[in-house]
Amino acid sequence: MSIRLGTGDLARYPFLNEAGEYLRQSGFGWEELDRPDMADIIQRAAERIEAGVSGKVYEKLDRYETEILTFLVTLIMVKSIGMEPVLKKYALAEARRAEKFLTEDLRRQNDAQRQALLSKIFGDLFGLAIDTTEDGRLFKVKVTDYLARSSHFHEQEWKMINRLVSNGNVYLGPDETVRLVRNELAVMINGRVHAMSLPALPKAIKERSDTLRAELAPRYEYRAHSVTEYPPCVKHAIEVMNRGENLPHSARLMLATYMLAIDKPVDEIVEMFKNAPDFNERITRYQVEHLAGSKGSRTKYSVPSCDKLRTENLCFATKDCDSIINPIQFGRRRK
Ligand code: SF4
Repeated sequence: MSIRLGTGDLARYPFLNEAGEYLRQSGFGWEELDRPDMADIIQRAAERIEAGVSGKVYEKLDRYETEILTFLVTLIMVKSIGMEPVLKKYALAEARRAEKFLTEDLRRQNDAQRQALLSKIFGDLFGLAIDTTEDGRLFKVKVTDYLARSSHFHEQEWKMINRLVSNGNVYLGPDETVRLVRNELAVMINGRVHAMSLPALPKAIKERSDTLRAELAPRYEYRAHSVTEYPPCVKHAIEVMNRGENLPHSARLMLATYMLAIDKPVDEIVEMFKNAPDFNERITRYQVEHLAGSKGSRTKYSVPSCDKLRTENLCFATKDCDSIINPIQFGRRRK
């Protein structure tokens, strides 16, 4: 069965192959990017990147021609900026934008439209077969597909024991179904930017990309001076964070508890996490305050022991670790 998407779908999901097909069929060429009327598209692309690196979802939605071109120019500009943390944060924001539209669409569209989306986005892009229940309110995913994607989610609700499972399928609501592929969407967008090779850029795009790079660079400067005295495990976590890469939950806990233990102010600790691809200041602040014992259970969390960090593959011991049993002891023996 051939499943057709509407133009509205292409506006909301400009990463679909059909959007690229639209550009090819319309005869759009590289030289068109230099037209004066592209100024509005370049402005939208810059706003989309700025929103992404600030951890926000770009909300504007225009006609599909505008959205497809904006998406293309945004990818070009992110590639031209050439900063991996910017790409990572932008890709995650783009995935979140698609996630928002997908959740809405799965809730309100009729069966045929919903089937088209399930087939094109989940099936074609991610090889994930999804079926709906008869009343169309829930979605069924094979247990193996579910486990492959949910195993890195930490929340209790994603544990199999807390799911409705029947006949080898896990049942999910629309938002949960979409959440399953968020990471894959981000990885796909990241991969597309990496795979791009740019010829000489049109002047207007180059100038705007250069300006954005100059504005964003200070956020990602590696603060070597503040890292050298930390134990290697903490230093490694800060370096990963500064590169804008994802840090496992256990490493975030180690980093935050260590910083609290050396009396770093909560504001500065929250600031350390700002390059995380999924950074949300409100949630991060709550979590740090929770670990400090000023929110929630009122229990102050200790820095995990070196033994525990070893079992979590978070230990990067050097000779300076000198048989210590907790990172908080690092440097004390030498003194
Ligand atoms: S030995 Fe302890 S302090 Fe040193 S890197 Fe490993 S976990 Fe960190």
